[in-house]
Amino acid sequence: MRIMSLPQTEITRLSQKDLTQSDIEYFRNKYGKKFVRALRAVEEGKVVKYHFLPSESETWIVKGRRQYLVIPELYCTCRSFYQEVVISREINLCYHLLAQRIAEIREQYQDQESTDTERRQLFVEWRRTD
Ligand SMILES: [Zn+2]
Repeated sequence: MRIMSLPQTEITRLSQKDLTQSDIEYFRNKYGKKFVRALRAVEEGKVVKYHFLPSESETWIVKGRRQYLVIPELYCTCRSFYQEVVISREINLCYHLLAQRIAEIREQYQDQESTDTERRQLFVEWRRTD
């Protein structure tokens, strides 16, 4: 299964400090409503990169109705990813996956430090796929 990977031209476009109207239009034409939702999530600070100690492992989370665990360019725990990406193969990404990429490229995410002990508790919630 081929999951989204942004082409270099789009990464370059997204890394500009200010997105122009034509940039927004380009991405909206390509990704539809998902781009608008993703960009909004990024601007509202809903993308979080957890950094756990002492293991130094990292986990990306996008906050929506609940917290979705996102493995960049690979996986998201939301229902849309499961149904539309994996099962029906209608699309190749959900807006959380797109939001994570935008946030990382634009360096516009929250850094959250935590412990491995807490990580185990957080994963009880993050493992949900409903
Ligand atoms: Zn998702």
